[in-house]
Formats: sequence, C-alpha cells, structure tokens
Amino acid sequence: METNLWEKYSGDKRKPVEDFCAGYKDFLSTCKTERECIKFAIKHAEEKGFVSLEKLMNSHSTKKLKPGDKVYGVNMNKAIVLFIVGKQPIEYGVNIIGAHIDSPRIDLKAKPFYESAGFCMLDTHYYGGIKKYQWTTQPMALHGVVVRKDGSTTDIVMGENDDAVVGFSDLLPHLQKDDKKDIKGEDLNIIAGNIANPKAKKDKFKDFVLEVLKKKNITEDDFFSAEIEIVPAGKARDFGLDSSMIMGYGQDDRVCAYTALKAILECEAPEFSAMCILVDKEEVGSTGATGIRSKYFENCLVEIMNLCGQYSELGIRRALNRANMLSSDVTAGIDPNYLAPFNLATDAHLAKGISFNKYTGSGGKYGANDANPEFIAQLRRAMDDEGVTYQANEMGKVDEGGGGTIAYIMAMYGMNIIDAGVPVLNMHAPWEITSKVDIYEAYRCYKTFYKMPIKK
Ligand code: MN
Ligand code: MN
Repeated sequence: METNLWEKYSGDKRKPVEDFCAGYKDFLSTCKTERECIKFAIKHAEEKGFVSLEKLMNSHSTKKLKPGDKVYGVNMNKAIVLFIVGKQPIEYGVNIIGAHIDSPRIDLKAKPFYESAGFCMLDTHYYGGIKKYQWTTQPMALHGVVVRKDGSTTDIVMGENDDAVVGFSDLLPHLQKDDKKDIKGEDLNIIAGNIANPKAKKDKFKDFVLEVLKKKNITEDDFFSAEIEIVPAGKARDFGLDSSMIMGYGQDDRVCAYTALKAILECEAPEFSAMCILVDKEEVGSTGATGIRSKYFENCLVEIMNLCGQYSELGIRRALNRANMLSSDVTAGIDPNYLAPFNLATDAHLAKGISFNKYTGSGGKYGANDANPEFIAQLRRAMDDEGVTYQANEMGKVDEGGGGTIAYIMAMYGMNIIDAGVPVLNMHAPWEITSKVDIYEAYRCYKTFYKMPIKK
C-alpha cells in the first residue's frame, strides 16, 4: 500500500501517466478562474453526449430521461453538476464526486483605479488563505469578465503568452533589513502603468491605462460589474530533473476537479447514478450562490429526477441519504524542507497514491467529517480489486494541522462521505507542486468509485 508509485509506472508504463498529465497541464495553463473551468467542462461534456439541463427543462418534451442518459447543469457560470442516470432508480442512491474550482488568488476591487507616485495602480482584495509575501515580485495575469450596463460581456485574459504582465512590487533588502514578510492586505496593489497622458487634465497615469482599456470598449465604471482575478502568469510545467512532478497555479483543487471530470466523462451506463459537482467558493467557506452550501446542486437533482419521471420528496431525501461521496480535495504533502509540522508515518507522501483523509477538522477533531468504517471497507475492497494505490492520512501533526473541505457540509444529508485527493507541496502559493503518479492514481480512483455498488 505504501511504495513509491514510480515503481508501478516505470518503463513503458510511464506513457499513460505522461499522456494523462499532458492534458492536465493544458487545462491548468488555460483554466485559471472558475468561469474558465466551467467553459472547459461544458465543451468536453457536450462532446461526450451530455445535454444541458436548462435546455431539457425548457423543451417541454414529454420524453423521459432513461438509464445511461447524461445531463449537465450550470450555476451562474461558476459551478457545474454533471449527472449520468443509473440503471437503478435514483432513490437507491447516487455516487457523487465533488471538487472545487476556485483557488486562492487576488481579486480586483470594484473601484480599482488610483494613482501613486507617478504610477497607475489597481487596488485589490485577496481571496482565500494566502501568505501575501509569496505573491509579490511574480509575473501576474488578469483573467475574468466585464459585464457592461447593456448586458454585453467581454472576457479578459491579459498577461499570458507574450503579453505584458503586471504584478505586486516588494522592497529591496537594502531598505528593509529585517525581512519581516508582514505585508498588509491593503498594501497588495498592482502596478499597472507609468505613462502620463499629456492630453489628460488630471490623473494622467490612470488616464493612459484607461485609454488602453477603451480599445476593448471597457470604462472605469464597468469594473463595478466585473470579476477580474489576478493570477500567476504562465503555463504549468514539469518539475524536477526527473520530470516526475507538475508545478502549476491552482492545483488546489483543480487537480481533483480535472481528474473527477475525466472520470465522469469516461463513465458509461453506470449501475447507480453518477454525479460530479465542481463548485466555487470552497476557499472562503463554501458560501454564496455558487458554493456547496447553495441549494443549486440539490435543485439539479430534483429537476433530473423529475425529468426521469422519478420525482418525489421522499425519493430525493432517500437518494441523498443513500449517496456515497468522495470529497475530492487536495491534502498537504510532506515537505522535505519543512518536516516539523508533519508526522512522517501518518501524513501524505508525494508519489504514494491518492490520499484518503478519514477525518478532517482541527484540535480534537473539531469541525470534522468522520467517515464511517463500513464505507471505508467498501472503498478499500473496490480500490484493491482495481489495483488503485492509496494512502490513509491526516493533515499535519495533532494540534498543529487540520482544516475543512466540503465534506462536513454534504455529510448533513446523512450520506457516506470521505475526503480523497492528491497531496500537494506549496499549497496556496502561486505555484503548487503535485506528483504525476498521484494525479493518475486519483483519476483511476474516481473511475473505480463510479462503478461501486451502493449498500445502505
Ligand atoms: Mn481545497
Ligand atoms: Mn485550499
């Protein structure tokens, strides 16, 4: 159960791992916001025969969905539910995998433009848990959307490929001898330009940058109705002289989102209904209309059961109560440079397979989901039968580590749920690191999960 997985994937056996990870790297390089992930998911789902739930609801067709049919529902362009109708009635239970597609980053404020010392600046508000100093002196890109008063939209991607980048500056060591690294959130400001527009009467530096944006038909006021995320510029790439790992932005939790998406896209005619949920807002407490606490995914299930001719209030409650779920979220991989907070025997190692966390929470397991051993035994059997390599972990030493995912929220339905994800180094930093073999094993784990029988 705990070898270095590269032994299993040596020689010719490395090829499928590399092929899978090449697709993953492309995804990471282009999908740096929730909306970009949703666009990617819709495109690939439609190619595999998934039909829009909204279209079905509006079609007034009396044709019922049948086993094997595939449906997807999109919530505000920032969350998606993919569903395959099982051979068994939906109320017998659903196999659900849930991952999040939001990642720590720095957002533009709704009124971002100002000037300081002859520069055009952009004011920001960080999103999620970050060590702020890590985000300074990095090449950064702007990804997002601007919605004008008339409803027209423009997607923004500035700072990728050979585009000009922007960024947060930091002081030279000569002027900051103590190296305190205590950057205040309010001081994370983007340097956006340094040319004074001679024609402008005031705010000449701001004016020059706004002239650039005018070419995209975007005004300063349009930033109030915009979502612009400042993310690390550049592509995901191989890491290590042996190319065994991947370094890329947003792997928490897009590594699990991509593998879960791949698993449901390749799932055909499952015995029990299969569902994949990719959600927003996990990094800020799963709140809001697009977070997992929103009723959206439950409403989707209601609509799908209705389209199957299987809707009843009791049926919905049974389907959720009998569900099996993997909360697919990353965990902390043991860092060879910082061993102190880890327990080497019980924490996750890179290249040792998908990591199951029976419970999360912190301190005396406060705030934990705690998976049932009966469910874990079924998972062990299914994974062992398929030869999926896994590890049973915590996240950091007792009283030092801990955290929460979407698991404890979904557990409120009374379903079986456990955290299962890929170990990550540099978590929440601009460039996170994962192992290729763990990514491949997560994908194999999720494919296996969708075939599991539900016993409840
Ligand atoms: Mn996460
Ligand atoms: Mn996170």
